[in-house]
Amino acid sequence: MNVLVLNSGSSSIKFQFFAMQGGEGGAVRAKGAVERIGESSGKFEYENEKGAEFKREDAVPDHDAGLRLVMEALTHADHGVLASTDEIEAVGHRVVHGGERFHAPTSINDEVEQAIEAHIPLAPLHNPPNLTGIRTARKLIPNAEQVAVFDTAFHQTMPPHAYMYAFPYELYEQAGVRRYGFHGTSHAYVSRELCKLMGREVEDVNLISAHLGNGASMAAVAGGRCVDTSLGMTPLAGLIMGTRTGDFDPAILFYLARERGYSLEEMDQLVNKESGLKGICGSNDLRDVHDKAASGDERAALALEMLAYRNRKYFGGYFAALGRVDAIVFTAGVGENDDRVRELSLQGLSGLGVHVDPERNQAGGGRFKAPGRISTDDSPVQVWVVPTNEELEIARQTYTALRA
Ligand code: ADP
Repeated sequence: MNVLVLNSGSSSIKFQFFAMQGGEGGAVRAKGAVERIGESSGKFEYENEKGAEFKREDAVPDHDAGLRLVMEALTHADHGVLASTDEIEAVGHRVVHGGERFHAPTSINDEVEQAIEAHIPLAPLHNPPNLTGIRTARKLIPNAEQVAVFDTAFHQTMPPHAYMYAFPYELYEQAGVRRYGFHGTSHAYVSRELCKLMGREVEDVNLISAHLGNGASMAAVAGGRCVDTSLGMTPLAGLIMGTRTGDFDPAILFYLARERGYSLEEMDQLVNKESGLKGICGSNDLRDVHDKAASGDERAALALEMLAYRNRKYFGGYFAALGRVDAIVFTAGVGENDDRVRELSLQGLSGLGVHVDPERNQAGGGRFKAPGRISTDDSPVQVWVVPTNEELEIARQTYTALRA
């Protein structure tokens, strides 16, 4: 099945075109991105399976024009991979928020489109561009099946005691105030890949998945089902991130409003854009944080220790949530590339059966382009690094949704 995967942001469309052989394997035939949509100078980058590239730097007025560029490139006489866009059998759309309604990949019709629209208040920055991508693709590629794959879906198996906040119950019933979680497509992908690598059935494995990037979250997964996750109703809670606070005492915001005159917008900006690693030491990229710490910057060293300590507390908490943990898996920009963060985050967990092999953890400069095990052979809890592949997961889920 030919599946075009689209990740539509407010000013970008990232795409990968897969030839799926069954529900698991998929060859990437072409990929690329349209960026700076709606700005005075746009950008389009495309590469096909043979490495042939195409670049363009003209203005791209809207998503309609952006998707037309993608379709032209896919069918181009030189660098194209299709004779006609009629060969695109399915389009898999990344959609950030599916609320409680969507717990699986879903074929899109008018009613589903309206339901995604109804969830805009839960993800005001993300669902609108996702929806624009869906509407554009339904119009321009009308013969293809369109499937929505939700970031929140994987976490819908959480039990109420994990997803409820201790607010008055009516706020859950009337306003949907609860934990939803994010990065679900990535957690789903690495969880399943990990079980394959371990040679175990998904149903038999309890694991903790740590998606550590600029945004970061952990998920406790029992037998393939998420039972808890660190992001909340919005992507702010939990771990310390590049620019986001993670967990903090919410009453600090009342204090800042009363004593320092912070407005709602300023508070939003503060906790989402100016905090985390950046707030502590001025850099949100861990590569810079390490460099600063190595040259004696005490705040950078503190930021690193704070981030690792928070990670450790979440690992410990999820041992309690799961009862038995067979494996831990690291993924995303930091999880795949930063051996020091992995090491510090697992420090002191040997009492729980986590033993990291320093040589394995640091192999290849600590950067993993392919999956690798970093625990010792006799570690009761296996620790792995598995590079995430959200696009392939969306293609797989799209295939499964249509063929199941
Ligand atoms: P997101 O998708 O949330 O924007 P990514 O998963 O792409 O984030 O991760 C980006 C982050 O990964 C960077 O901000 C940086 O902190 C970290 N990162 C990337 N490469 C490396 C590396 N070689 N060493 C350490 N950290 C890295």
